[in-house]
Amino acid sequence: MRVHITMECTECHERNYLSTKSRRNNPDRLELKKYCPRERKVTLHRETK
Ligand SMILES: [Zn+2]
Repeated sequence: MRVHITMECTECHERNYLSTKSRRNNPDRLELKKYCPRERKVTLHRETK
């Protein structure tokens, strides 16, 4: 069972990435270090609803 999620930059709140995850493996909000094109650097991105 995989659900679609959006990854949002925690610094500028730009929504930069679409992804999927498994509810079984990741019941909580995902946090990933990803490149933010707006800030042109790697920042922490968090799953949004
Ligand atoms: Zn950003």
